[in-house]
Amino acid sequence: MALPAFFSRVADSLRPVANVDPDTLADKLHDVRLHLDVVSQDDGAKGAFLLACNLAARLYPVIDLRPSHGSSRDETLTHQARDLIRAINPDADILLATRNGAASLGEAEDEPGHDHEPGRDGSDDTGLAVSLRLGVSFSRNAGHIGTTQPSAQDRLVEVSARGWTVAVDPAEGWDRLDDGTSAEPGHPLAWLAAAAFGMSEVFRIVFAAELGDRGRTGRQAGGIDLLTAAPVDVDAPASSPFGEAADTTAVATSEAPSSADEGPVPIAEAEPVDLGEFFLVGGGAIGQAAALALSEVDAVGVMHVVDPETVTLSNLQRYVLTRAKDVGAVKVDLMQEAVKNNAFGLAGAASRLEIKPLRGKWGDSEEHLDAHQVLVALDTARDRITVAATAPRHAYNAWTQVADLGWSRHEEFSVKPCLACLYYPSRPRSHDHELIAEAVRQTPLRVLAYLTYNLPIGYPLPSVPAIAELPAPPDAVRWTQVALIEDLLDDGVVEQTQRNEWADKTVGLLYRDGICAGGLLPVGDLPGEALVPLAHQSALAGILLAAELYWSRSPSLAARRASQVEHRYDVLRGFPQVFGRPRERTPHCLCEDTFFAAHAGAVEADHP
Ligand SMILES: [Zn+2]
Repeated sequence: MALPAFFSRVADSLRPVANVDPDTLADKLHDVRLHLDVVSQDDGAKGAFLLACNLAARLYPVIDLRPSHGSSRDETLTHQARDLIRAINPDADILLATRNGAASLGEAEDEPGHDHEPGRDGSDDTGLAVSLRLGVSFSRNAGHIGTTQPSAQDRLVEVSARGWTVAVDPAEGWDRLDDGTSAEPGHPLAWLAAAAFGMSEVFRIVFAAELGDRGRTGRQAGGIDLLTAAPVDVDAPASSPFGEAADTTAVATSEAPSSADEGPVPIAEAEPVDLGEFFLVGGGAIGQAAALALSEVDAVGVMHVVDPETVTLSNLQRYVLTRAKDVGAVKVDLMQEAVKNNAFGLAGAASRLEIKPLRGKWGDSEEHLDAHQVLVALDTARDRITVAATAPRHAYNAWTQVADLGWSRHEEFSVKPCLACLYYPSRPRSHDHELIAEAVRQTPLRVLAYLTYNLPIGYPLPSVPAIAELPAPPDAVRWTQVALIEDLLDDGVVEQTQRNEWADKTVGLLYRDGICAGGLLPVGDLPGEALVPLAHQSALAGILLAAELYWSRSPSLAARRASQVEHRYDVLRGFPQVFGRPRERTPHCLCEDTFFAAHAGAVEADHP
């Protein structure tokens, strides 16, 4: 059994985007052999390789770590990757190269029952071979050591980074000069983003059949300058950099970064960037990815991490700082340890960030009222508005939705859209009975009656309540004859096998423990709060959240940022995409209130 112990959560995360039942999904994942490799010599590429392994271990049970021809990977990195995968999913099957070039299953050769034992010659042609390569190989057709059949061209994803630019499936030579040296090293954060983009493309290959026209069936090239949000031409070789008309047919000038005529700008300060003192609110999937990203850059500063929870088994599906042994750990303590030791990144490069954990919620400390910089990685609009209400001078925000993720920056309170402008309800927020009714596909009045009577769903209603704004439908008398659970069973919201488990529970418990906690996830009309994002989706959101803080602390980088404050990426579409989203301030938002504006002014005066 190579599937991870948190597999049921994996199945939950896939349901909204690819309708596969858990058994079929398990068979499908067992059939995939994911090959991960790094051919770029950038230091950042090694961190990206480890992130790809980290994300892969949370979904794919069979991972091939054998180096490709031309791979610059050293044995230390390979073993680090193997140990990381095994720490996350101890049952994973890992293919490693041995001294004579044959494959081995890591340390698991002697264990019986592996479905993917390689043949004597090291080849393993069963199943669906998919490859992610960090850096562009000189020959796209190069296979990897020990295999007789290279991965099919259309199941290979290559990603790379140059400066702040990330490319998917770039042309040969995009990231290297003719002599093989790196054209321009990718920034470590760009490399991490490249790994997440790459893993999302791998997902689109593996689930191409289920995703329909959103699946990936062949090379789909594109790129973005993360800093400027400008699309870039990835078919231009490195020897003809942007802005130089060495080959005008290959460089689409309209797509070149707007700064091209301002001359080269360094991708980072020469000295470590001083991130100052900042708060990371939320130690979930996005917060952990942001912390991992910040531990990989050359930066100093003090990071306060705020989260009240402990790690559950289901968190391992997408929390990049969690391992199998971390279930039950306090999230903020775990993050402090992981960042301090750079436990999930490049060993030996201990982060100089100082971490201060606070197990609690935003607002628990008086320091929160005077916060200068806040990274917001929270799950609900309500929690985000709580942060916005303390009017931090600089707030950076990231989130995930079905298939989509976004990030935003909020620096000029009362001038630009504030954090709450993105979430401030433009209409009254749904009441609990409305949320539950939507989730279980029942009329709000019937749900409200069960809540009011505190009645288990295995019983019919004693009567239909009369409520002015919720008129009863004509067939409401049925509700006094048929128990709610019967209709939920008919609709497939509750499975027959779970009848006894839920019949004596209230509809509130069904919603909280069954639907929101992932025990039951009806396909189709999912309530927004019950969604489980994909691992690479949360990771990318967290990396871009970290990047927003990093850019803001470097004057030369801050000046080049995209003018739009909000960006989105659809992980199921691939490139090209438009990232920027126009956003105005929301009328009647708290940032129009003189009290909040005065507070923001006072905070700003304290942090000139
Ligand atoms: Zn606002």
